[in-house]
Amino acid sequence: MTDKQLTAEQQVQQFSELLEEYNYQYYVLDAPSVPDAEYDRIFKLLKQLETEHPELLSANSPTQKVGGAALSKFEQVTHQLPMLSLDNVFDSASLDDFMQRVIDKSSLAETAFCIEPKLDGLAASIIYENGLLVQAATRGDGLTGENVTENVKTIANLPLKLRGDNIPAVLEVRGEVFMLKEGFNKLNAGLVAAGEKPFVNPRNAAAGSLRQLDSKVAANRPLAFYCYAVGVFDGDLADSQYQRIEQLKSWGLPVSSEVKRVVGEAACHEFYDSISEKRSSLAYEIDGVVYKVDDISLQEEMGFVSRAPRWATAYKFPAEEAVTTVENVEFQVGRTGAITPVAKLKPVFVGGVTVSNATLHNKDEIERLGILIGDVVVVRRAGDVIPQVARVVVEQRDANKTSEIVFPETCPVCDSKVERIEGEAVTRCTGGLYCEAQRKQAIKHFASRKALDIDGLGDKLVDLLVDHNMIKDPSQLFSLTTQQLSSLPRMGETSAKKLVNSLQVSKKTTLARFLYSLGIREVGETTAANLAKHYKKLPAIQEASIESLKSVSDVGEIVAKHLYYFFRQDHNLEVVNQLCDAGIHWPVIEEVDDSELVLLGKTFVITGSFDAMSRNDIKAALQALGAKVSGSVSKNTNTLVAGSAAGSKLAKATELGIEILDESGVLALLGKTE
Ligand code: NAD
Repeated sequence: MTDKQLTAEQQVQQFSELLEEYNYQYYVLDAPSVPDAEYDRIFKLLKQLETEHPELLSANSPTQKVGGAALSKFEQVTHQLPMLSLDNVFDSASLDDFMQRVIDKSSLAETAFCIEPKLDGLAASIIYENGLLVQAATRGDGLTGENVTENVKTIANLPLKLRGDNIPAVLEVRGEVFMLKEGFNKLNAGLVAAGEKPFVNPRNAAAGSLRQLDSKVAANRPLAFYCYAVGVFDGDLADSQYQRIEQLKSWGLPVSSEVKRVVGEAACHEFYDSISEKRSSLAYEIDGVVYKVDDISLQEEMGFVSRAPRWATAYKFPAEEAVTTVENVEFQVGRTGAITPVAKLKPVFVGGVTVSNATLHNKDEIERLGILIGDVVVVRRAGDVIPQVARVVVEQRDANKTSEIVFPETCPVCDSKVERIEGEAVTRCTGGLYCEAQRKQAIKHFASRKALDIDGLGDKLVDLLVDHNMIKDPSQLFSLTTQQLSSLPRMGETSAKKLVNSLQVSKKTTLARFLYSLGIREVGETTAANLAKHYKKLPAIQEASIESLKSVSDVGEIVAKHLYYFFRQDHNLEVVNQLCDAGIHWPVIEEVDDSELVLLGKTFVITGSFDAMSRNDIKAALQALGAKVSGSVSKNTNTLVAGSAAGSKLAKATELGIEILDESGVLALLGKTE
């Protein structure tokens, strides 16, 4: 024996043992540890070796058998006709080869194929005698399956009694037991809530549910069944696969509505493309398309190889899961300051593309996955969804090559402190105005209508200014010159002048608007208004303790902490000072005693448009008098302020008999009470 043969022999043994182990996890435990693509890869390697070294091919090889075994806890059923597997192809050229073999055999260029979705569940044989369901069995090893009659009887879409005419006296239908995606998600959510281990995918959930000893458990699982073949039968059946499926349907048996009979290679490829597109919107999982010779006599002529018919093949979709290694974890800062851990993967082909990054979302997800740097992981990419780490292959963890994922204590972009508020999943950079990653977002917010309301400074212009390195923080907006601005693409001198002018105008604001414009997390306009009213001066807010901040209406522990930490970052203070130095100012807020808050306890809603004052200004003026301004009309509303073109809110207020003020009414109210 040469070294080479020895190596091949060892490899055959190694691959066979690995596949036996994977078969056991998949078929017996219903809990695979590796994705199907990994199984298929090893299977292909083994097949290749066996072709190159025929002397190493044994009848017991996993490539020669139908995977699976009947569990002894069930009564065994011997199939009268073996239940086989299917050959696979993974690219369109191999599908063409299959079709060519069929065409050569039939000598008919126009050979018809019955095309069916490859349902991702487990095969079952169901026998009807005189139209009544008498026995159901799993495929098992293809020769012997498990008697699961009682469980199968609980499947909602499967009739216990057939209907219609010319039903064969004995009819064995074969098909797939599967779980609808929605039912699977609910089942797994329930298992997680009960502290139990969820199923890896709907296929394994279906297999685990069908092979429950207690049929009451199976009855509660959302199982479904579609027929795709006939086994033994005693009666008349059509001589075409497609027509047989139609016959089964006519007897009340469920079949997939996607099944088609087509002629010609082009139509076969078209079907694959169209169902690939539809795949994510189907209610059930499919993992490919099955092409079957339609003519039953041609099927019989072509016969079988060891574990699969020659007249059918499965064209599998590109795998949605693959195994790879986490080489490192990096932290990215999003435009809202969220710090996201991203796994840097050894590049792997999955879901039709090469993937080298996968988001790990946040700390909770890292804990849920139990993932370490250096781990072997299963990566999933389904459709256009961004790649995810589905799970860790803990069995393949090497303690010497793995290390813990440590979250940074400061922002990787701007070095500000990061914070994670209790109860929140996300860790955030507190750099806000200063952090480069959040720059555009911060400036857009600063300029927005409810903040400084800078006319003519839209989102696209902010992008341009930042991309051209003209501003780094909002304070630098105020030193922009007409000349600088008009150098930007699509910016004429007139627009540039206008913008410089509106920047000047926006400098006159209110303390509430200014506070809101800083974009402190969870400090909305109402909170900003309450803070302004409470503290009256900016330094008082900057210096306030968490306890003091919590005493302000609308401010809880979380908001208080956001405020407190914001004003403890030197670079935030720097930007605030620069803004004030740039000339932003607001009127001094006078001490008001409660007797001046004449609208205290009253709820207003504002709708429609106004000429003399903007809606925001009316709102601020009402709030300054103690009113609460709400967004929708309800029986708790006291007054609706309705401008022109008021619509459904006006109708509702009229219906509820609520006081309505038009523009002159509200001006009078504000003027009269000032
Ligand atoms: P298969 O799933 O590739 O194809 C055969 C099966 O397809 C049939 O038995 C039937 O159940 C099903 N099927 C769905 N729709 C059909 C239709 N319209 N017509 C006919 N059959 C249809 O083969 P298999 O032998 O059941 O399983 C082997 C595959 O299972 C492997 O290729 C691998 O992907 C997976 N597997 C994975 C692991 C793992 O550890 N991840 C282990 C074992 C097997």
